[in-house]
Amino acid sequence: MKSSTLIHALSNADLHCHSKVSDGTLEPEALAARAKAQGVELWALTDHDEVAGQQRALEAALAQGLPYLTGTEISVTFANKVVHIVGLGFDHTNEALKAGLKATRGGREPRAREMAEGLAKVGIEGAFEGALHYVGNPELISRTHFARWLVDAGHCSDVPEVFRRFLTEGKPGFVPHRWATLRDALRWVHDAGGMTVIAHPARYGFTPTEEYALFIEFQAHGGRGLEVVTGSHTAAEAVKYGDMALEFNFLASRGSDFHSPDESHTELGSLPNLPGKLNPVWLELQHRIQYPGA
Ligand code: AMP
Ligand code: MN
Ligand code: MN
Ligand code: MN
Repeated sequence: MKSSTLIHALSNADLHCHSKVSDGTLEPEALAARAKAQGVELWALTDHDEVAGQQRALEAALAQGLPYLTGTEISVTFANKVVHIVGLGFDHTNEALKAGLKATRGGREPRAREMAEGLAKVGIEGAFEGALHYVGNPELISRTHFARWLVDAGHCSDVPEVFRRFLTEGKPGFVPHRWATLRDALRWVHDAGGMTVIAHPARYGFTPTEEYALFIEFQAHGGRGLEVVTGSHTAAEAVKYGDMALEFNFLASRGSDFHSPDESHTELGSLPNLPGKLNPVWLELQHRIQYPGA
């Protein structure tokens, strides 16, 4: 399993998904089994701002015979927008990383209470308590949990509708929030031995100038990767960011961003392959991959 020829040939890497430890609906063990069943050859669980699921995901993956990279997806504020940075292949017991993520998570509860106040103003009462029922990890209360509660309480017919009507900029349940800085997020992951990747770059709505600034600043702080093939990109967006990966000399990543069998459009391990001309992140992370039976 350890030979580098196998790693070169590997195509079905899925390096982005969420468990109940953040805003997914499956436990890490169920995700590991699902990834294996879907033919994933290298897997990373990347819960938002949290590594508490890593040991479980690692053990479950190895028990399934599935090579594993540690992962997380860190919320960062850049140019007044939220950017997601995926960290891969770090030491998940690193104290500075854990402390940084904990500090970031600390903002979530007050934010959630403010979101509920905003919703109460448009006649939706009890949203904070409602969302809490859907939370697997109370420190990780997110817009996704509000969305699930709003659907089940009959206010909307599905999660995308909730985001459109209530949870995005300018809508009653949206609260602007200051997340980690790009520099801190990258430092936490790099100092723990890992690599950082800009998640789903097409999703931010940046102007070309802002996007250029993000890429340059990310690189200046030691960032190496760009998520090119993801469940959050159209085929055209994957082509565009594949070209940008070449232009900026980024390594390319691939991940479904799977959250839930009921909500996610992209199943684990079901993405198109990375275009062959790109250098995949996993070639440079070989020394960080944990193998079954190793
Ligand atoms: P938060 O970290 O609390 O701001 O929540 C962000 C999460 O909400 C993302 O990780 C997605 O899982 C989810 N999300 C964001 N935008 C949408 C959308 N338009 N439709 C469905 N889910 C979304
Ligand atoms: Mn999410
Ligand atoms: Mn994201
Ligand atoms: Mn994600």
